[in-house]
Amino acid sequence: MGRITLDKVRKAFGPVEVIPPLDLTIEDGEFVVFVGPSGCGKSTLLRLIAGLEDVSGGEIRIDRVDATTLPPAKRGLAMVFQSYALYPHMSVRKNIAFPMKMAGVPKDEQDRRIEAAAKALNLTDYLDRRPGQLSGGQRQRVAIGRAIVREPSAFLFDEPLSNLDAALRVGMRLEISELHARLKTTMVYVTHDQVEAMTMADKIVVLRAGRIEQVGAPLELYQSPRNTFVAGFIGSPK
Ligand code: ADP
Ligand code: MG
Repeated sequence: MGRITLDKVRKAFGPVEVIPPLDLTIEDGEFVVFVGPSGCGKSTLLRLIAGLEDVSGGEIRIDRVDATTLPPAKRGLAMVFQSYALYPHMSVRKNIAFPMKMAGVPKDEQDRRIEAAAKALNLTDYLDRRPGQLSGGQRQRVAIGRAIVREPSAFLFDEPLSNLDAALRVGMRLEISELHARLKTTMVYVTHDQVEAMTMADKIVVLRAGRIEQVGAPLELYQSPRNTFVAGFIGSPK
């Protein structure tokens, strides 16, 4: 569970082709990072996978199912945004429970998953608070908790740490990596931060103007960048 295949996926907004036809396979359990400069199409690509944008062409398969026209809720994926998107008037517990309620998960199963997620994310003491009473890092954990309880076949992260200060970012980076090591669920992670990409990824996808410049393990990209763009972006001495 959690293999995602893009087959000639493209996206245009009006006359502007933001993603030219693109092929990519994300293996089950992989931690894949999309990296590239601002405006290169990272969020668009993630939103296409999530189903938040319709493709202009091509096919998206999730675990061999053609998901190209499936609505987001039917894709079995969970997306974590940089802006947290928590409900301010609901407690942490209710925020985390919300997607399960929508999906009709029985109440006792909801409680079991909330306890497990809270424990994993150090939120047990905060379940009755509201988002406004939490720090930025804690709010980000709630957003991750809300994704975990859906038991998705893959997590999609769009620059989840960009609102946090530098010190907190390092801590959360480690937490997300540990979560991946424990859950072994596919994670697709968008960032413009080279250090995040190098330290977290099994596989890095370097994007430039909607095209894949190179795909590879962090060390491979560092040691054998295909061109000066990749070298410059990854920070290797070529
Ligand atoms: P990134 O996440 O890498 O910064 P985006 O995927 O947000 O880049 O954007 C890629 C390009 O697509 C940008 O030029 C952006 O202006 C354009 N774009 C994104 N969303 C829309 C939209 N809804 N309508 C028109 N253009 C868009
Ligand atoms: Mg973006």
